[in-house]
Amino acid sequence: MKVLVINCGSSSLKYQLFDMDKETVLAKGLVERIGIEGSLIKHTKTGLEPIVAETPIPDHKTGIKLVLDALLDKSTGALSSLSELGAVGHRVVHAGEKFATSVKIDAKVMEALKECVPLAPLHNPANIMGIEAVTEVLPRVQQVGVFDTAFHQTMPNTAFIYGVPYGYYEKYGVRRYGFHGTSHYYVSRRAAEMLGRPVEKLKIVTCHLGNGSSITAVDGGKSVDTSMGFTPLAGVLMGTRCGDVDPAIPMFIAEAEKLSSKDVDSLLNKKSGMLGLSGVSSDLRDIEAAAERGEARANLALRTLTYGIKKYIGAYAAAMAGLDAVVFTAGVGENSATVRAMVCQGLEFLGIGLDASKNKVRSKEAIISTDDSRVKVVVVPTDEELVIARDTKRLVE
Ligand code: ADP
Repeated sequence: MKVLVINCGSSSLKYQLFDMDKETVLAKGLVERIGIEGSLIKHTKTGLEPIVAETPIPDHKTGIKLVLDALLDKSTGALSSLSELGAVGHRVVHAGEKFATSVKIDAKVMEALKECVPLAPLHNPANIMGIEAVTEVLPRVQQVGVFDTAFHQTMPNTAFIYGVPYGYYEKYGVRRYGFHGTSHYYVSRRAAEMLGRPVEKLKIVTCHLGNGSSITAVDGGKSVDTSMGFTPLAGVLMGTRCGDVDPAIPMFIAEAEKLSSKDVDSLLNKKSGMLGLSGVSSDLRDIEAAAERGEARANLALRTLTYGIKKYIGAYAAAMAGLDAVVFTAGVGENSATVRAMVCQGLEFLGIGLDASKNKVRSKEAIISTDDSRVKVVVVPTDEELVIARDTKRLVE
């Protein structure tokens, strides 16, 4: 079966076409600047050079049509006819408390996703647009929704409730939801396979460290706590997001700087984190280089980031009453030996021993702890699209 995976943003759309018989990627690409001047599609058939075509793309429906044209192209495509397409799987950011697993999309599911828009006003409308565009262009193809929040629905209420009046949970759904669930699910399973042990028997802390970062306590294969919260602003320091701060700080800044709540929201989401602290960049490569040149604030940003991750590992080991493995994934987790080393340093008391030479690995699956380390440290490149494709195939069959 061939499965198309779509990750739809407000002005962009990423896609991958899988052959699920062999679990291989046949083609992938990106539609950018939808509804904005300079829109384009970048399409790559596996094994060939990418092709970039600039063309007006006023809406997502036009974008989907272009994707299908690219996939049907005789020389650079990967489908000989649309009837080969078994199903379409969508990444959807927020399913609130409505779905704890992936689901086949029907009118009821669409209604539920629309009800979750207030919880993810930036993401869910784009995801919904993507599903509606596919429905219009491919009315007979079954679609599946895979949710960032679903994996975390196993958290106990002690981990997800906040200390604000309980009525706000009942009235507005104010609680911790957590995100990157598909990634935490995938890397925890993959790490268990690499360690040759059943995930049901393991206590794992998964560190998804990218531009957006989250850390999850995975006990027996289930998420029992996670660092992102009601929104993806919470948790560890991120590229441009502040992560955990004293909740009184936003009010203080708003008053002191005469800013609206919208301004403060933007400040905490787009100008804070590693960028705000370092004054250099949100990109960890730039920060590592600046820190090496001796720039004090870049160095502070790096130390604050890794100190925060370390604290989460300690907290989640306590939450699970044990720890068997720490997993690093996403852009920073997969690539930065510096961050991994700084995080693990000082955690020897928990049973973590990092092997400095194995830690040099980049973007590859590897066990990077010493042979006698009681807690295993593992690098697993994440593959959210593969999880979406697998779930889509399973549900359609
Ligand atoms: P997103 O959350 O947007 O999916 P990614 O998972 O792609 O982000 O991660 C992007 C981050 O990974 C950037 O901060 C980038 O600096 C970092 N990164 C990528 N490659 C390296 C590298 N070789 N060394 C250090 N950091 C890296």
